[in-house]
Amino acid sequence: MKISFLGTAASEGWPSLFCQCEACKRARSAGGRNIRTRQQVLLNDDLLLDFGPDTLMHVNQQMIDLSRIHDVLVTHAHSDHFYPEDMMKITCNYTPVIDDRLLNVYGNEDVVRAGNDAHEMKNRWKGCDSIHFELLKAFEWYEIAERYKVLVLPAVHDRSQNCYIYYIRSEDSSVLYACDSGYFGEETFKALSGLKIDALILECTGIFKDLGHGHSNIEWLLKIRERLSSQGSLREGTRTFATHVCHSGAYRDGRSYIHEELSNELIQHGVELCYDGMTVII
Ligand SMILES: [Zn+2]
Ligand SMILES: [Zn+2]
Ligand SMILES: [Zn+2]
Repeated sequence: MKISFLGTAASEGWPSLFCQCEACKRARSAGGRNIRTRQQVLLNDDLLLDFGPDTLMHVNQQMIDLSRIHDVLVTHAHSDHFYPEDMMKITCNYTPVIDDRLLNVYGNEDVVRAGNDAHEMKNRWKGCDSIHFELLKAFEWYEIAERYKVLVLPAVHDRSQNCYIYYIRSEDSSVLYACDSGYFGEETFKALSGLKIDALILECTGIFKDLGHGHSNIEWLLKIRERLSSQGSLREGTRTFATHVCHSGAYRDGRSYIHEELSNELIQHGVELCYDGMTVII
């Protein structure tokens, strides 16, 4: 399976829009892998995970052919993961020419509701039927894009909506996508026992800082992996990827850390720090 990390930051990006903290200033001047946009991943060029406000930038800068992608799994309806206004650009008024016009968007109740509202707004005068929203339920298996088996699991993030973690299996491998997951609940670990994971894609929002309920950091990420390993859900060569990182947690003992320093820190634990544009084959 090919995994493309299109965006790897938490909701404000890194450097953050207005921020003048040391971690943002250093990232700005170093550039390259230090410039992070909002979270988004593409599997095998045909299954998109999350659709935040930087999707346009990812498509144009990383040469993604969005007209050939028909399926999007959305973890939850926070604006860094779900920006339905931009999805509506698929409709006739914005996209008069397209190779193949159909987008299936899967997510929780808030995703389906906000998506349908946005669609209604844009199409009341046109009647385009190019985008469909489908509700997913926790602990259910779904077949998506005819080649993926997806198990939907609850995240511990925002109690006002059903935030999801996705276990995604293709013909040859499997990934666990947990961005804005917090430390998993017992029922999530239980549902994963008996399954094998080839790649763990885990949020590391807080980095060195414990953000409390609803987010993970290095410490909690390692605890999640340890628990999955002890219950037999990982293989010998399972790779762990840290993403959805936030500048405000990149401080330890009074000093700031940017990409290379953080990457060196994480690799000592066998964790690969993602950057925008990183592609791996698992
Ligand atoms: Zn987020
Ligand atoms: Zn900052
Ligand atoms: Zn969120």
